[in-house]
Amino acid sequence: MKILVINCGSSSLKYQLIDAQSEEVLAKGLCERIGIEGSMFTYQKTGCDKTVTQIDQPDHKKSISIVLDALTDKENGVIADLSEIGAVGHRLVHGGEEFAASTLITDEVIKVVESCNDLAPLHNPANIIGVNACRELMPETPMVGVFDTAFHQTMPPEAFIYGILYEYYTKDKVRKYGFHGTSHAYVSKRTAEILGMDYDKAKIVVCHLGNGASICAVDGGKSVETSMGLTPLMGLVMGTRSGEIDPGVMEYLGKKENMSFEEIMTMLNKKSGVLGISGVSSDFRDVDIAVEDGNKQALLALQVFVHRVVSYIGAYIAVMNDVDAIVFTAGVGENDQKARAEIMKNFGYIGAYLDPEKNNMRGKEAIISTDDSKVKILVVPTNEELMIARDIKRIVEESK
Ligand code: ADP
Repeated sequence: MKILVINCGSSSLKYQLIDAQSEEVLAKGLCERIGIEGSMFTYQKTGCDKTVTQIDQPDHKKSISIVLDALTDKENGVIADLSEIGAVGHRLVHGGEEFAASTLITDEVIKVVESCNDLAPLHNPANIIGVNACRELMPETPMVGVFDTAFHQTMPPEAFIYGILYEYYTKDKVRKYGFHGTSHAYVSKRTAEILGMDYDKAKIVVCHLGNGASICAVDGGKSVETSMGLTPLMGLVMGTRSGEIDPGVMEYLGKKENMSFEEIMTMLNKKSGVLGISGVSSDFRDVDIAVEDGNKQALLALQVFVHRVVSYIGAYIAVMNDVDAIVFTAGVGENDQKARAEIMKNFGYIGAYLDPEKNNMRGKEAIISTDDSKVKILVVPTNEELMIARDIKRIVEESK
């Protein structure tokens, strides 16, 4: 079975066509600037060069039809016709408490996802637009929703309840949900496989450090604690997001700087984090260059980032009362050996020792701890699309 995985944002759409048996990616690409002038379409058949074309994409339906045309193109396509696509998987950001696993999309499921829109106003509506466009163009093909929040539904109440009036949980569903679930699930499982450990018994801290970043404590294959919250703004200092701050800052700045809630939220989501502290960039590569040029604020941004990661890893080891492995993934985690080295300086007390030579690499699976390190340290590149394709294959086969 061939599976089309769609990750639909408000103005962009990433896609991959995966052979579910061989787990090979047949083609992948990206639609950008959907609904904006100058839309771009990127297509890459595996083993061939990437092509980037400017094609008008006034809406997501047009983008998806361009993707389907490219996949079935006589010359550069990878399938003869659309009937070869056995299922479409959609990454859906927020499933609230309703979805603890991936699910076959029906009208009813769409209604429930829409009921979570308030919890992820930037992401969920865009995700649903992608689902509806695919359903229109491929009415006979099963669609599956895979939720970023689902993996964290195993967190116990003491981890997800906020210290505010309980009725805000029961009435308004205010609680910690957590995100990057598909990535944390994939990376933790792969870590157990690499180490030859029983996933049901392993205690793993996954550090997903990308532009968005979160940490997850995975105990016996289950998420028991994670750093993002009701929204993906909480926790680590990220590319442009503040992560954890005292909520009192909002009132204080609102009054002092005469800022509205909207302005404060935009500042916290888009202008803060590594970008806000460094004043240079949200991209760690730019910040690293600035540090080399002697920029003190850029150095401070990296130090704050590292300090926060260290604090969360330490807390999550305590939550699990032990740890077998600490794993790095996503853009920074996979590629930035300096950040990994700085973070791991602080864990000698639990017997976790980084091997500088093994750490001297990027973008591939590796154990980077010393041979005698009690706690293993790994890099495992995340593969959310593959995880989604595996889930979909299982669900579609079970539903037959
Ligand atoms: P997201 O999916 O959240 O957009 P990614 O996981 O793709 O983010 O991570 C993107 C980030 O990874 C970039 O902003 C950059 O800071 C970082 N990154 C990528 N390559 C490198 C590298 N070689 N060294 C340091 N940081 C890197």
